[in-house]
Amino acid sequence: MEIDCSRRGFLKASAVAAAAYAIGPPVIARTIRPSVIVVGAGAFGGWSALQLLQKRAKVTLLDAWGPGNSRASSGGETRTIRATYGPTHLLYTQMVARALRLWQEHERRWNVRLFFRSGALRMAGPDDSYERAALPVLQQVGIRYEKLSTEECAKRWPQINFEGVPWSVYEPDSGFLAARRACEAVLNAFVKNGGQYRQTQATPGPIVANRMHGINIGTSEVLTADYYVFALGPWLGKIFPFLTSIITPTRQEVFFFGTPAGDVRFTEAQLPTWIDGGKSPFFGVPGNHWRGFKIADDTRGPV
Ligand SMILES: Cc1cc2nc3c(=O)[nH]c(=O)nc-3n(C[C@H](O)[C@H](O)[C@H](O)COP(=O)(O)OP(=O)(O)OC[C@H]3O[C@@H](n4cnc5c(N)ncnc54)[C@H](O)[C@@H]3O)c2cc1C
Repeated sequence: MEIDCSRRGFLKASAVAAAAYAIGPPVIARTIRPSVIVVGAGAFGGWSALQLLQKRAKVTLLDAWGPGNSRASSGGETRTIRATYGPTHLLYTQMVARALRLWQEHERRWNVRLFFRSGALRMAGPDDSYERAALPVLQQVGIRYEKLSTEECAKRWPQINFEGVPWSVYEPDSGFLAARRACEAVLNAFVKNGGQYRQTQATPGPIVANRMHGINIGTSEVLTADYYVFALGPWLGKIFPFLTSIITPTRQEVFFFGTPAGDVRFTEAQLPTWIDGGKSPFFGVPGNHWRGFKIADDTRGPV
């Protein structure tokens, strides 16, 4: 049997999977419930599985450690969701606008709070070209924003030191998501709507004539489907080694700070999520779920 795990072979095979994700209801309706296996139940895999299910595919979702687990990129307490992405990221900003709408629609439907509209503040640094270039993009996509002077910021958020910040962009409708709990909510909706979930480690089967032939589970079990989606986040290069040249997992550190007893200035009621656009790439999320005030150093380090 010819096994083609080369980059070319994979791209052809995964183009099939990508088509499965991309096709809309009219195309999928012509087929009798195509089956799809999605490997990885993080933010990307979980939502892919749920959306495929909603488009009437028969979907199995697999994850080695569970959605939003502590090893996964989607794990942990919170993730900022904001739309100021500089000059060249129209697509990012459009995706954020859509994601904001979808999260809010779904949290209402699921009756669980996942999105916290704390507002999102991006502080410009001495070089403010990123922030200046982002404003027309925000405008184009219809994201509400305010351009705030340092004086205005200091008045609104006296608990923040704005020294060295010339001005800021504030998105009042952005904020943060409860990361791990959001992954769990997506899984719950997936299962409730008839999706099959298994906690198991998966490896791809052979790719022959541009088609993947099954997924290996454990030592002897093989699962087959019409389409396969691998949403493995930082593990993607381990499973498909030719991708290591384009996917580099990095380590960023996150710290939770205790605040003075009874002090609510650092909770989502009083503090926005924030990003320091200056020299050091720090960002923060207000204390959520009594976990303390989060500060992350976004410097990319070795894993
Ligand atoms: C510390 C940190 C802070 C971040 N902050 C932000 C932020 O504030 N805002 C923002 O937008 N983004 C942020 N990001 C990025 C964002 O969290 C990621 O882009 C996103 O979570 C990636 O999701 P994913 O589904 O691709 O990957 P993952 O969540 O890593 O999912 C991959 C899944 O695959 C599973 N898996 C791996 N191998 C196998 C296997 N062989 N078989 C079965 N399952 C397997 C894993 O268990 C895992 O659940 C941050 C990331 C980190 C790490």
